[in-house]
Amino acid sequence: MNEAWVWVQSELELLQRQNRRRYLVVRQQGEGPWLQVQGRRLVHFGSNDYLGLSRHPQVVQAAQEALARWGAGAGASPLILGHTQEHQLLEEALARFKGAQAALVFPTGFAANLGTITALVGRGDAIFSDQYNHASLIDAARLSRAEVFIYRHNDMEHLAQLLAQHAVQFRRKLILSDGVFSMHGDLAPVGELVELAERFGCMLLIDEAHGTGVLGPGGRGAAEALGMHDHLTLHLGTLSKALGAQGGFVAGPRVLMEWIWNRARSYIFSTALAPAACAAARAALALVQTQPQRRQELLRKAAQLRQELQNQGWSVPQGQTPIVPVFLGQERRVLQMAEQLRQRGLWVPPIRPPSVPEGQCCLRISLCYDHTPQQIAQLLQAMQELAQTSGN
Ligand SMILES: *Cc1c(COP(=O)(O)O)cnc(C)c1O
Repeated sequence: MNEAWVWVQSELELLQRQNRRRYLVVRQQGEGPWLQVQGRRLVHFGSNDYLGLSRHPQVVQAAQEALARWGAGAGASPLILGHTQEHQLLEEALARFKGAQAALVFPTGFAANLGTITALVGRGDAIFSDQYNHASLIDAARLSRAEVFIYRHNDMEHLAQLLAQHAVQFRRKLILSDGVFSMHGDLAPVGELVELAERFGCMLLIDEAHGTGVLGPGGRGAAEALGMHDHLTLHLGTLSKALGAQGGFVAGPRVLMEWIWNRARSYIFSTALAPAACAAARAALALVQTQPQRRQELLRKAAQLRQELQNQGWSVPQGQTPIVPVFLGQERRVLQMAEQLRQRGLWVPPIRPPSVPEGQCCLRISLCYDHTPQQIAQLLQAMQELAQTSGN
């Protein structure tokens, strides 16, 4: 590396001093809530495979059959015939699941957000975006060149104020919110968002990455859990979390899907999702629909875990998702706690800026359907010990 690259090392050292440097850890083995890193077996509380579907025999078999039939990759972008029958079947299944006319699958949820949002708004338009939205929504908003107004987290008065002040000056208006906020696991007030979108003539996009498969009577997401599913025009989610596969999707009116495949650059200029991932996601979607007990059991366990951590005195907010944050404040504290848990055989990701705002570091426990009662008890036991030693 010549001199022009020297800054990289010093920037990394700066991150290190701020306790914000991140490391890539190799998962040597691991299925479900187990993993092995650096030769040690740990119970995994950082997975988004909430329903344990990524290893479900029907999901794996579907992927294997698609692999044998189509090969490893789609071979081209969707409009250049990378769109196989597997993609078509998955899109039809997603459309039915969401009660929409049509759906479109992207290589990732991140790409779905980038492509969709930049297809909906551009220069001369406005985006109203929750302060805690996922990075893919933030980046999409920037990339769109629309003017971006950020409202305080879930603060509908602030949003109403911004809309009243600015909305009329813009051609198209789009409100963006996570359905389930990815770091803290709380829900967006979808009913109020729908009402404000209606009142101010805005499009509304709720990102259901964490809600899909997990929340609502049909597993359709946060909007369904709040009784608002049918009020949304556009649906967006990922295949990579509770569906245990890979990819992202949008669903909605056919004309809107057609507009998106004409305009979304992350769709047009990227190789179509691997057919095996499509087949896996479709098998997982079928299980979401036929086995509601998976999400019911998961949510029951998560509610119980929240309660018990609160009883131990930890700062754990109320909530109704399998994402259970334990707020600890500063970087140093959260890193130390994560390390102490690791020594006790538990892997819980420490969350630091830029994933959360300054001073809001937390341990982010994500619970999965296949965590056993013993594994959860082991976590609670360790947290109890740490509560005592840290004088919590
Ligand atoms: C994870 C996530 C995404 C990205 O989905 P991928 O399929 O992992 O790319 C988008 N939005 C939110 C809110 C997420 O949590």
